[in-house]
Amino acid sequence: MPLPVVECVPNFSEGRDLAKIKVITDAIEAVAGVRLLDVDPGADTHRTVVTFVGSPDQVVEAAFQAVKTAAQVLDMVGHHGAHPRMGATDVCPFVPVEGIDLDGCAELARRLGERVGRELELPVYLYEHAASRPERRNLAMVRKGEYEGLAEKLQDPQWAPDFGPARFNPKAGALITGAREFLVAYNVTLNSRDKAHATDIAFELREKGRVARRGQTSPFYSSGKELTYAGDCYPCGNCGYDAPTFEALEAHCKEAHGYDLRHLLKLNDIDAAKGVVGKKAYKAGLYTQCKAIGWYVDTYKRAQLSINLTNYKVTAPHTVLEAARRMAAERGLVVTGSEIVGLVPFQALYQAGRFYLKQQGKSPFVPIPDVLENAVFSMGLADVAPFEIEKKVLGLPRVADRALVAMTCADFTDEVSRDTPAPGGGSIAALAGALGAGLASMVGNLAQGRTRTAEAEAAVLQAAEQGQRLKDQLILAVDEDTNAFNSYMDARRLPQGTPAEKAAREQAMQQGLKLAVDVPWGTAAACFEVMKAADLAMRAGNPASITDAMVGVQMGFAGVRGGIWNVLINLKDITDAGFNAELRQRCAGLLAEARALLDEALAHGDGKLAAMLDKKK
Ligand SMILES: [Zn+2]
Repeated sequence: MPLPVVECVPNFSEGRDLAKIKVITDAIEAVAGVRLLDVDPGADTHRTVVTFVGSPDQVVEAAFQAVKTAAQVLDMVGHHGAHPRMGATDVCPFVPVEGIDLDGCAELARRLGERVGRELELPVYLYEHAASRPERRNLAMVRKGEYEGLAEKLQDPQWAPDFGPARFNPKAGALITGAREFLVAYNVTLNSRDKAHATDIAFELREKGRVARRGQTSPFYSSGKELTYAGDCYPCGNCGYDAPTFEALEAHCKEAHGYDLRHLLKLNDIDAAKGVVGKKAYKAGLYTQCKAIGWYVDTYKRAQLSINLTNYKVTAPHTVLEAARRMAAERGLVVTGSEIVGLVPFQALYQAGRFYLKQQGKSPFVPIPDVLENAVFSMGLADVAPFEIEKKVLGLPRVADRALVAMTCADFTDEVSRDTPAPGGGSIAALAGALGAGLASMVGNLAQGRTRTAEAEAAVLQAAEQGQRLKDQLILAVDEDTNAFNSYMDARRLPQGTPAEKAAREQAMQQGLKLAVDVPWGTAAACFEVMKAADLAMRAGNPASITDAMVGVQMGFAGVRGGIWNVLINLKDITDAGFNAELRQRCAGLLAEARALLDEALAHGDGKLAAMLDKKK
């Protein structure tokens, strides 16, 4: 399986002396596997935002080296800037990109915090998703009092640090680390130079909403008359209702429109508890976790909605784009395209591509590059600037350049034929399964939209979906099988001069063998799923594709058989009798099921084929 991908975005309290920042980013880049994506210094804020990605272990190591280096080269004494801050490394959030969630990233923040506290003896606070208590979730609360108030804050038992000593370090201050969702910076471009056009739509979309108006609010809302809360009349911003009391309006907003009025007012700097009479009334926007304004970009000669999506899993880029397209049309405007600023997580773009394929009545279960390409076209992502998927998408699943499966078919077959033991039967079994899965998906995709019943439609889409997933899984297993075999071969080459060395070699060999068993077992199990998907596609798919599906079933069976043979041959050298017995039993059970499915599926397919040939006569 590919390693999870984590993004880390530390902010350092230095935005003017770029040589110092270079020392810190060098320390980050010195960690193997970490990719430095962006360094954004600000002279006014006297602060630099650094972005890098890598696997969880790599990112935590790089973050630690960065915090350590910043504590050495930066000095908070006399630091002044426009941005609030508490330490040399001020905040250091971990952000899930692919294959890890917020809980996983919170664990990384705790690992970093523990090590910084212990090794660097700096006070550390955890915030947002890693916070140790509710009042520490909000970064502004944790940072309250800033660097100047830190010495006093550390004395308050309520604000004891989560890690490290409650002792003020004048040079480095305190570290605040945590976990938050990925922020997608996303702009929607209009066929207009008028910033007001973009602003009018942006205010409809954003969570914060806008000042409520009535009267002439169409096509542009901003031409209506502003509403104000009076002592006896509380107008709703989202419909024509006037409530007699604030409480009645609050209940109405919840019931009729599903939003919390106090929260909306708070986003607009109004504290409802202090009374709202005389204040402007507000209209809630369509989407939570969505900030948006309008602006004009001279380079493009176009107005844009500039949008920040603080949780793309709650509000996705394509969701706001579709709403923006509807609203633009209502105003006589056209959305010419959209733009991802910086990077976008793979899932955000992948889900968008699947959404648009479904909209077109196409199967969304096609290869990943096809889904992403559809997202780029549908969202108009190359409208104002080039959009290169390889450069813009974070956590893109890809095979390594040196992987066997990156070879041409001819080169791979040559490689198999050479006098080296790998790639061997295990890799070929996985490849057979991957090809069978490809066929299952193909037959499903050819039939989708053309089936006669809802059941058949669901079945072919299921075959297409499972075929794609199994294909991607088994393609990775082609290389995994060879690598598993390599680790046993490496262990065999370990020294065996002393009894201790002999024992260590034997243990490493046993571990290598068990690993070499895990991979083909996984291949066999996945290939059985391939057989089921191909069987499903054969029964519900087009008659014309029946032999394709039958080849899929047969290839899946070759994968099951090959996987099992590779498990069994590796068992002969494993000394753990319990492990051996269990696997033999599992293999026997799987083989019996696969054989039964093969016989039944091919009998069905051959029967249909014979009937087709009879008709022809
Ligand atoms: Zn209403």
